[in-house]
Amino acid sequence: MTSGIKVKDVDAYYGSVKVLEGMDFSAAQGELLGIIGPNGSGKTTLLRTIARILKPKTGAILLDGKQVMQMNNKEFSRKFAAVPQDTTINFEFAALDVVLMGRNPHLGRLELESEKDIDIARRCMELTHCWHLAERPVTELSGGERQLVIIARALTQEPKVLLLDEPTSHLDINYQIEIMELLKHLTAHEGLIIIAVIHDLNLAAQYCDRLVLLRNGKIFAMGTQYEVLTAGNIKNAFGADVIVKRHAVTNQCYVSPIPSSVKRKTVDPIASSANANANASVNANKDKTVHLICGGGAGASLMYLLTEHGYKVTAGVVNLLDTDCEVAQLLNIPVVTEAPFSPITEETFNAHVKQIEKADVVVLCNIPVGFGNLKNIEAAEVALRQKGKKLVVVEVDKIENRDFTGGEAAERVNAIKDKGAVVVTKTEDVVGVVDGL
Ligand code: ADP
Repeated sequence: MTSGIKVKDVDAYYGSVKVLEGMDFSAAQGELLGIIGPNGSGKTTLLRTIARILKPKTGAILLDGKQVMQMNNKEFSRKFAAVPQDTTINFEFAALDVVLMGRNPHLGRLELESEKDIDIARRCMELTHCWHLAERPVTELSGGERQLVIIARALTQEPKVLLLDEPTSHLDINYQIEIMELLKHLTAHEGLIIIAVIHDLNLAAQYCDRLVLLRNGKIFAMGTQYEVLTAGNIKNAFGADVIVKRHAVTNQCYVSPIPSSVKRKTVDPIASSANANANASVNANKDKTVHLICGGGAGASLMYLLTEHGYKVTAGVVNLLDTDCEVAQLLNIPVVTEAPFSPITEETFNAHVKQIEKADVVVLCNIPVGFGNLKNIEAAEVALRQKGKKLVVVEVDKIENRDFTGGEAAERVNAIKDKGAVVVTKTEDVVGVVDGL
């Protein structure tokens, strides 16, 4: 790829300390690339290196095939604009004057702005929805308003590449959305290349085309949100235990932390027991085992909720790499697994039935059913026949909408419901049902 920006095997140092090692990635025209990673992992340093504030010790940075380090200052400023982390301005300039400063790389020495420059500034302020602030002193603007003005200034440079360091930190959710929508628009409709350090993993997932995850100055993972934002990568890079689920409407990843109270209960049985003894309502649940027939993320929230309520939880059959599998492993929940993307074999089914035998309550989660996991419905039928066992069926969506077997799954699940299973239409209601048993 000769067009777009290419960072090739770049190492960068502060003095004698190596801070970036082997940075190697590219961003195409029209792409919004998010840089994520824990504090101190090198995100700002990476932006500073691309912005030529820090000179790479080795490697090269190319824009449309041309070495960025070999551009003269004026050429560089016409191609790259940066929005730093701290955008405080202490002088009482009018917002329009601040935006007009972005025209400097296009003006000769001592040359004043022309009508054309003012038109460009106006267009950029309209694009960033801050033209109405043109006459206001920047010192009087809110953080969100000021950020829009600073982005307008950067755009007035008419750059090909826009670099932003945490453009939404300290802003409320409305400005976070406004700014991320603006960045998306600038890439998709104005053809800019945007490289932005984004603190909030969920915003990064929602708006960035691809992500680069840094850890200790190296690229730890790179790719789409689905490739980068896995619970394993986040644990390894940030040291944080999280659940990564797909949003039901947008299918985007969303990341939520697992509270340490849950981890204590699951990871440390002694501490867990002490906790439970201190809490009578949780204590009563300690002996009950709830088994979740799940997959595709349908069981993840129940794993969390039931564990939180003090129940012992087991799960099956889920494919390895499935969200439910990741969450079960994180919460130390025994889970019967099948190979990734493979149908449930007889052997796995038998192991699943053995797991179900040990449970007091079995929950058939709101899973989509195809021929590959039809044996999970058979497992629910087995549970229904076992004496003294309660079966709960979760139907957030009607089974007919989740049946990919041509009607067999719906018929069998409806029969299970008719034979005395408790049906709930909200996942979280399972907890109340189990509490009441
Ligand atoms: P991030 O943006 O991911 O929080 P930084 O790029 O700011 O990380 O910092 C990466 C590493 O470089 C950290 O160890 C930090 O302490 C160090 N560092 C940052 N700025 C400087 C500097 N000006 N001089 C020396 N070390 C620095």
